[in-house]
Amino acid sequence: MAEQCAFCGNKHLTAKTTRYLHRHGEELLFVEHVPCVECDFCGEQYFDIAVLKKIEADHLEIAEQRKLPQRYLRVAVEEFKAPAGIAL
Ligand SMILES: [Zn+2]
Repeated sequence: MAEQCAFCGNKHLTAKTTRYLHRHGEELLFVEHVPCVECDFCGEQYFDIAVLKKIEADHLEIAEQRKLPQRYLRVAVEEFKAPAGIAL
């Protein structure tokens, strides 16, 4: 696990858990309460390789219907369109 933020160089990292979003093609899997360390300064998160491999393996099992997820969310998808009269 990282001892220094590779992104900003800060040395204060805090162990916590977070929601991880894993993408497998067009399929998404949210995993709740995933252990990570987070940079106190910029918020960059670092995950143990074993944690990421476990999430990837779980997602493959779900995608291949060998395992059921705990629940499903409906996800709406939209292209961003600037409101009329506002140049972005
Ligand atoms: Zn950082």
